Amino acid sequence: MTLLGIGEFARATRLSAKALRLYDGKGLLVPARVDPVTGYRYYGPEQVERGLLIGWLRRLGMPLARVGEVVAMEPGAAAEAVRGWWGGVAAETAVRGELAAFVADTLAGLPRGPVSVLRCAAVSDRGLVRGENQDAVHAGERLLAVADGFGVGGARASAGAVDALRRFAEGPEPAPGTLLNALADVVGEAARRVPARAGTTLTALLPAGRRLALVHVGDTRAYLLRDGALSLLTRDHTLVQALADEGRITAREAAVHPQRAQLVRALAPPAPRPDLHLRTPRPGDRYLLCSDGLTTTVPEPALRRTLRETPEDPARAARALVSLARSAGGPDNVSCAVADVPA
Ligand code: MG
Repeated sequence: MTLLGIGEFARATRLSAKALRLYDGKGLLVPARVDPVTGYRYYGPEQVERGLLIGWLRRLGMPLARVGEVVAMEPGAAAEAVRGWWGGVAAETAVRGELAAFVADTLAGLPRGPVSVLRCAAVSDRGLVRGENQDAVHAGERLLAVADGFGVGGARASAGAVDALRRFAEGPEPAPGTLLNALADVVGEAARRVPARAGTTLTALLPAGRRLALVHVGDTRAYLLRDGALSLLTRDHTLVQALADEGRITAREAAVHPQRAQLVRALAPPAPRPDLHLRTPRPGDRYLLCSDGLTTTVPEPALRRTLRETPEDPARAARALVSLARSAGGPDNVSCAVADVPA
């Protein structure tokens, strides 16, 4: 086999000699042979493909440690890993974009604009199997929230979390720039009140000036229906989502995984670590917050269809979604809160 010198290999892979030394040091791309006298590196022609892949991943901005994991995977798993990682980057970038716009508006002293008022409704249902409803919901002009409690005292945990947010939403509006920190404090305080053997998820939207603040922890979800298309605004804080993000399981495997309900983050002591985002609503937007009793029984195309077929009637939309979950066996408590941004 003819080995390639470092110059030739660098040209073939578009990687610099400096980068190749780094990747050798990290064990990502180890030369086939190093001359013991001169220290020159030589690479096998079959290593070109790996070198190109490393180059692409670095150009995407993937950290080296993650690159090392991806190049060690089978192609199918590597593809899933790249998709999962990029989904996270894209979501994070969108969140930062909203925050940047908010900070710029605040610095420029722009008027905060009228507070958006949500036209909304919520339904929570025990389902057909569970003995108790541990979900909690709220739909009001200043707050839309869904929480899914678990453990002994789960119903108290979910109700307490929603109530803490409701009191915050109905209180005096915090100064611009302090909203997200104030929300983090409210959620932290609510977590400290959760009963010892319980916890809850929490997904909520609060109008704040021209924007909506989104609070999220756990596997309750927020969706947006805009121009007929449905998009998921939250990432589940579950073990299977983490495994899927790392490319260790596919989205299909995640949906049937025996531990799919296991949370990696929830509103429970000591630190709930909620995701806190700002979003800019548009007239005609429809938001759906729901518990996993809906999303594990009703596929997304049916969610989208139902939300599209019930325009300007959030109560009808919420009722229709809950009855879909019940028709699918209603194995869990199911809660839906739907809000329309007036056109
Ligand atoms: Mg549930």
